[in-house]
Amino acid sequence: MFDGPTAAVQVRLSVRHTRRDTKIIRFDPIRPPAYDSAERLKLSVDGLTRRDILIRSLRLGGTALACSPPSFSWENKPLRGRTTGLSAAAFSCDVTPPIGSPLEECDPPVATSVDMPLLAKGVALSDGKTRYVLCSFDYCELRNGARDLFRRKIADAAQVNELHVAVHCVHQHDAPVYDVDAEKLMDLAESPPHIADLPILEAASDRVAGAVRAAFENPRPLTHVGYGKAKVEKFASNRRVPMSDGTIGVRYSSCTDPVLVAAPEGLIDPWLRTVTLFNGERPLARLHYYASHPQSYYGKGHMNPDTPGLARARLEKEEGIPQIYFTGCGGNVAAGKYNNGSPEARAQLAERLYTGMKGAVAATEKARVSEISWTSTEVRFAPRSEPEFSEAYFRKILADASKPYHERTRAVLALASYQRFKVWPGIDLSYYRLGAVHILHLPGEAFVEYQLYAQSLRPGDFVAVAAYGELGTGYICTDKAPGEGGYEPTNSFVGPPSESRLKAGIRQLLG
Ligand SMILES: [Zn+2]
Repeated sequence: MFDGPTAAVQVRLSVRHTRRDTKIIRFDPIRPPAYDSAERLKLSVDGLTRRDILIRSLRLGGTALACSPPSFSWENKPLRGRTTGLSAAAFSCDVTPPIGSPLEECDPPVATSVDMPLLAKGVALSDGKTRYVLCSFDYCELRNGARDLFRRKIADAAQVNELHVAVHCVHQHDAPVYDVDAEKLMDLAESPPHIADLPILEAASDRVAGAVRAAFENPRPLTHVGYGKAKVEKFASNRRVPMSDGTIGVRYSSCTDPVLVAAPEGLIDPWLRTVTLFNGERPLARLHYYASHPQSYYGKGHMNPDTPGLARARLEKEEGIPQIYFTGCGGNVAAGKYNNGSPEARAQLAERLYTGMKGAVAATEKARVSEISWTSTEVRFAPRSEPEFSEAYFRKILADASKPYHERTRAVLALASYQRFKVWPGIDLSYYRLGAVHILHLPGEAFVEYQLYAQSLRPGDFVAVAAYGELGTGYICTDKAPGEGGYEPTNSFVGPPSESRLKAGIRQLLG
């Protein structure tokens, strides 16, 4: 969410928006896997089928767009593929909204240019029996019905249930915050403060589904997995800075306060981890994981994928291999110690991230892989209990057309999440194991403590963590954070005892 004060901006319209066609990495076709997922579910989702998921979706109020019937009849359209062996294919799809679209995080909240296209990048995986999709969007946030929409369209394309689809956001800030549920709630308010253009969102989800479908129709054998890590120097720093008076100072992503800049980095995970999928000697895709808010200068409506996009594109051009970036548990981590918000600082930070990626690639060890192991569980987060986080409070803010845009959008985003918690209280986490590689998928703007906790459960193993999945939670703080103060608890819609619940879920998967 909003990270630091946004200044008045000059609207720039000189860059014309162009829609790029979907780009697919094409491989030799093989026969399709049958739909079969329930056998791999061993935890609380045991027995859920794709139909169950759709029925649950249909029960949600106010999410008609996300819950419209699938346009794709998977019973009648078997895909080509094979019955044994692993396969993988990367995909990349332009999901940039048009200039003039709402950008909730910006001030003014509108897209004024396309500095670089926003992409959805991912991999389509098959083990010959079922399929999985791991996808990262160059969006700030996908919440509730908006994430459901993309996830379901991708699942339809892959012919699996939504639990097999991991959808995450990079969380750079000159990009959309989408929540279909919130957008529909807004329509009930006077002078509604819009955050999404629903037909644009639906069209983007169709394009991503097309890219996924094409990737599954053109797989390449997956024979080996690579794993390597390298430290990223002078990028991440903890945003919560203990001050001499006992309060928590806020070191935003861009920071020039000398006291905050001079303070130590604090708790971070300095390692960038890279997973490489191989067909024999040939890398099919690299998946990078690093835990920090990614933005450098931001909030001006000039859409771009920021530091991860620059680093990713540079390595992709250099290697000719698809590069996919997942933001780890960077909820309380940002570049503030090393970023004054200048264009030069963005270039420096992107260079450091790129150097980390190169280092992780150079350190890569390779091992044969013969199985994709997948499990999932659900966590029921607890909504905030304070009066200033109550439904009544947020409804009052939303109904007051005299309130500023960002105050009303914060209120409606909270209300949409509370509605979701009532009718569908569980949020799923998932865990993949490919040989020596462990990948954990988490929701929300999770504090770095959760990533470190996951890694502590498997101290000798390579554990990569992608956060920023379902973002309806806002920040997922530690339970003590609201009492300490600081910025993150002001945009967190889940509270104690959510820490112990999330850790229990992580323990179920990794322990
Ligand atoms: Zn954030």
